[in-house]
Amino acid sequence: MVRRSRKPIPTPTWVCLHCGHIHTPATLRRLTADYLQCENCKLAFPSKKTSPMKLFRRVTTEEANRILTVGFEDKAGTYLTNQKRTGVFVSTRPLDCNEGVPLAAIVLLEIRLAMLEADISDYEWTEEGKSYREWQLPAAMLNSYATVRVVSTTI
Ligand SMILES: [Zn+2]
Repeated sequence: MVRRSRKPIPTPTWVCLHCGHIHTPATLRRLTADYLQCENCKLAFPSKKTSPMKLFRRVTTEEANRILTVGFEDKAGTYLTNQKRTGVFVSTRPLDCNEGVPLAAIVLLEIRLAMLEADISDYEWTEEGKSYREWQLPAAMLNSYATVRVVSTTI
């Protein structure tokens, strides 16, 4: 007697936004209700299907080397406000010296942040009439949820 082959039940999978590694329920490591950790690259990504946010930051050559080897570091400042705040500024488009970027910051980094926009809303710096959006994110958040690449090394 020939046994009719049954269609295999599809296994649910989750693809890492950073490296493309495919996870099955057996290899899944859940960090929170909304985020998973990739078993290959160890970065976190949302469990819901989404695309990463594309953000930019201009840094000096030394800073770029440090970010690419050891990761982002928090910086503190008052930034013309009356309170000290720490973190790393990132924006939705590349900024230049007219927008407060030091002249020595010639390396443009593209940061692909695998987070839901709602989860970083507390870190946004809003300002009337600004032509871009800007966040001051904790370095630890970028180091766990983002991939970085150098876009250009000249202004
Ligand atoms: Zn990965």
